[in-house]
Amino acid sequence: GLSIGIVGLPNVGKSTLFNAITRATVLAANYPFATIEPNVGRVTVPDERLSALSRVFTKGERVPPIIPTYVEFVDIAGLVKGASQGEGLGNQFLANIREVDAIAHVVRCFEDDNVIHVAGRVDPVDDIETINTELILADMAGLEKRLQNLQKKAKGNDKEAAALASLAEEILAVLAAGKPARAREYDQPVPKDFGLITTKPVIYVANVGENDLTEDNAYVRRVREYAAAEGAQVVKISAQIEGELSEMPEEEAREFLADLGVQESGLDQLVKVGYKTLGLITFITSGEKEVRAWTIRNGEKAPEAAGEIHTDLEKGFIRAEVIEWDKMVEAGGWAAAKSKGWVRTEGKEYVMKDGDIMNVLHSS
Ligand code: GDP
Repeated sequence: GLSIGIVGLPNVGKSTLFNAITRATVLAANYPFATIEPNVGRVTVPDERLSALSRVFTKGERVPPIIPTYVEFVDIAGLVKGASQGEGLGNQFLANIREVDAIAHVVRCFEDDNVIHVAGRVDPVDDIETINTELILADMAGLEKRLQNLQKKAKGNDKEAAALASLAEEILAVLAAGKPARAREYDQPVPKDFGLITTKPVIYVANVGENDLTEDNAYVRRVREYAAAEGAQVVKISAQIEGELSEMPEEEAREFLADLGVQESGLDQLVKVGYKTLGLITFITSGEKEVRAWTIRNGEKAPEAAGEIHTDLEKGFIRAEVIEWDKMVEAGGWAAAKSKGWVRTEGKEYVMKDGDIMNVLHSS
């Protein structure tokens, strides 16, 4: 699944948000997962298509369980101004942040005299730059070490090392100019083992008080401008409200949100934006036994998607029966959908689409 690391200055609302996430994790039913680390929380990806399909495959009293996909949130503590100097960012910090696919950068956009701001005033753009600078410095430190290593190898006539060294130099120039590595594209793919943080996409999470949820306040507007210039997404939330929502039953939560004048919880929005930012889509397996969502990258072909379910299904992939989810709902089941001619047979080159229902035919 997708994993998103939560970063931000102290006192911006990270723990409040993360507590809401962990409560949502505990409350969510149907998790086929074992225990997870204390700094990790899981939020299901909201998907109304699954409940519609569960109704289609309900037989008498037997309602097929819905197994949604989820997004993992990792609480990445320990980022303060100057963290990358002196002792450097802690190893635990670096290990945690390097593992995530994307970064949710929480920014304080609320005023409250009782909550001390580390810099003494609320200034979201300054806060963003403080954090971004630390991340850039951390990347520079790591990459400089890497570059020395690569240059040594390049002297021994290692062509691959020479190419990587010139890539590292290019990226270092971007970082030295105070820009994140993702600010530019490079001729070659940036290897994962460069361990860079600033290649990861960022979503800015503007944390506001409940009165500012419907209309943007001046702080949020500034964050939006900053993000737009970077091509990054912004999600406006109220961490405090998320905390309250996570303790309510679904129906009550919906009414509460409606009263506030918003349609969707901040966490749900964050999950959706995370999907979009990373180019992820969902395909579904569906029948009387269960209705289940799977996460894949946009552009993946049928065998790779089958491999999400089980590696054997990818290795032994013969072909797949595929139908759009809404066609399945309209038909009312596999047999009816087949007799209408709506179930297609797709081969190894088929590129999966969001909302496809797939049944894999494989050799074992
Ligand atoms: P962290 O240091 O980033 O983890 O920040 P916390 O989640 O601990 O929040 C710092 C303080 O700000 C706590 O006292 C929270 O209750 C408070 N806080 C968080 N979000 C909001 C908000 O939207 N409005 C107000 N007024 N206070 C908030």
